[in-house]
Amino acid sequence: MTDFAATRRAFHLPKGVTYLDGNSLGPMPVAARDRVARMMGDEWSEMLITGWNKAGWYVQPRKVGDRIARLIGAGAGEVVMGDTLSIKVFQALSAALALRPGRRVILSDSGNFPSDLYVAEGLARAVGAELRVVAPEEVEAAIADDLAVLMLTEVDYRTGRRHDMAALTAKAHGAGALALWDLAHSAGAVDVDLTGADADFAVGCTYKYLNGGPGAPAFIWTHPRHADAAQPILQGWMGHDAPFAFDLGYRPAAGVERMRVGTPPVIALTALDAALDVWDGVSLSDLRARSIELSEAFIAGVEAQCPDVALNSPRDPGRRGSQVSFRHPQGYAVMQALIAAGVIGDFRAPDVLRFGFAPLYNDLGDVDRAVETLARILRDETWNDEKFHQKAAVT
Ligand SMILES: *Cc1c(COP(=O)(O)O)cnc(C)c1O
Repeated sequence: MTDFAATRRAFHLPKGVTYLDGNSLGPMPVAARDRVARMMGDEWSEMLITGWNKAGWYVQPRKVGDRIARLIGAGAGEVVMGDTLSIKVFQALSAALALRPGRRVILSDSGNFPSDLYVAEGLARAVGAELRVVAPEEVEAAIADDLAVLMLTEVDYRTGRRHDMAALTAKAHGAGALALWDLAHSAGAVDVDLTGADADFAVGCTYKYLNGGPGAPAFIWTHPRHADAAQPILQGWMGHDAPFAFDLGYRPAAGVERMRVGTPPVIALTALDAALDVWDGVSLSDLRARSIELSEAFIAGVEAQCPDVALNSPRDPGRRGSQVSFRHPQGYAVMQALIAAGVIGDFRAPDVLRFGFAPLYNDLGDVDRAVETLARILRDETWNDEKFHQKAAVT
């Protein structure tokens, strides 16, 4: 059994705070601070440029990728780190499109995160493709024989609705298309199995449930059957077969390493590597079971004590990721009042109160405190105060 009391102790959780926003930014693993300090002191300071070889900075994107692979049902050597998720969406989508010459339709859904849709829209304009966006429930029926790439985010960032990755991938393959999955709200949150689902490409960020820190680098996975055929559009020197030959022409590296672009963010990767230590010994089935236990307890508590809010997530835990959202017409002000009372979730326009349950550090005590605090704020109408209505730049 996974020891979740031990994983909770691995994080710095500020006193008096109940943190239910790990789906936006995971808290700091205690070990990350020392690890980064050591990297600065022993590696950057003393080794200078030789750190690329001596400290292994050059191979870090692949080594860290191997650690993420276990958490998403991928094999060693199939995942590489770097850049932001938006860039990795571009890199994967462009490569997938190029593997389906003669087809030009990208299908996605309106529950996808806007950045993914913006990137797809820009790419479609550049290469003469067409982006079709349908409602999440209509995706399956919209998979047709003209489809090149099905591009979906497995877990909806607002509702927590989880797509059936294996079934939709099979349907896409049946239509002759490829499937690209964004795991931003899945990796570290649910029991992802890319190999079992037979997906083609996957991408994700590491600052949400993987706790790598603000701006932590993204990951990209290519199924081994495509790894040596995929042609990246962003042909950076770090994805070249021999970067230090400085050839004038591009020749892709073997496997997923061709998806690298430029110099990796070594300091950020070092913090992420420390964050991944917490996952050693965590079983994904235990993770999933605990996530369901927490989110079910939260829904039951809120529905019993907060008549003013409406569930905005699937009721069936099998169709949910690890987050739950509720709607309230004054959602923004309610969330500000909650945060002021020490319960941190977040708000998503237009009226969504969003709560992430991260099994590594959230427990039933967090659920109880969140339910009680929300109930009190709604009962006393604490949110109905001018100061809770001022909008900040980041919600
Ligand atoms: C969080 C998130 C992003 C953010 O992309 P960045 O490039 O890291 O800012 C993109 N897509 C999805 C689905 C997300 O959930």
